[in-house]
Amino acid sequence: MNIVLMGLPGTGKGTQAVILAEKFSIPHIATGDIFRENIEKATEMGRKAAQYIKAGELVPDEITCAMIEKRLEEPDTDNGFLLDGFPRTLVQAAALDSILENLGKELQGVICLQAPEEVLVERLSGRRVCSNCGTNYHIRFSPPEEGGICDLCGGELMQRDDDREETVRRRLQVNRGKTLELESYYREKDLLQQVDASPDPKTVTSKLLAIMERF
Ligand code: AMP
Repeated sequence: MNIVLMGLPGTGKGTQAVILAEKFSIPHIATGDIFRENIEKATEMGRKAAQYIKAGELVPDEITCAMIEKRLEEPDTDNGFLLDGFPRTLVQAAALDSILENLGKELQGVICLQAPEEVLVERLSGRRVCSNCGTNYHIRFSPPEEGGICDLCGGELMQRDDDREETVRRRLQVNRGKTLELESYYREKDLLQQVDASPDPKTVTSKLLAIMERF
């Protein structure tokens, strides 16, 4: 099953993608995660991407498409994959079409998570991540037992640079128009499924599972 999970930052894409990928035993490929890994390891690509990510801008298509092409050639994607955060532009969507065509594959569906802007700003600017194990918390919706400390490993909780409110608003602004374009692109191909991501995560998961079962 080859699926794209789309949606503005804060719609819960990442959280849902982990659950769905595990349920269907397919790799979860998140461009944001791959960039962050490369930044941490100080690879050349990580160095190029870092400046854009910090500013809440998109990393150039050329860098992003080359990275995803390499990833989709890995054998663990033979039985399917769940793309999270890619494509984010029409150029990337066209690149994905040609990468898949070359690999003799096609998309079964594109799911787009949707929620009002204020919900997204509150979710993102309240997010905290464990600097040691990467577990996500939220200062209001899922706070740790002890302020600033990870329940699982005792690591220090941090705010991602790009989760600061002004950067969050910039990220939403940058992504909004592009997301609408992508929705039209995939609607025309009859691949698009839209899902309301405002309810609690479990409710959203049930809706997504029901859609994926039909693919
Ligand atoms: P995310 O973790 O998905 O919110 O991504 C974090 C940041 O990585 C984004 O704000 C962009 O700067 C960059 N990024 C992730 N995916 C893409 C993409 N498909 N195209 C361009 N930039 C991306």
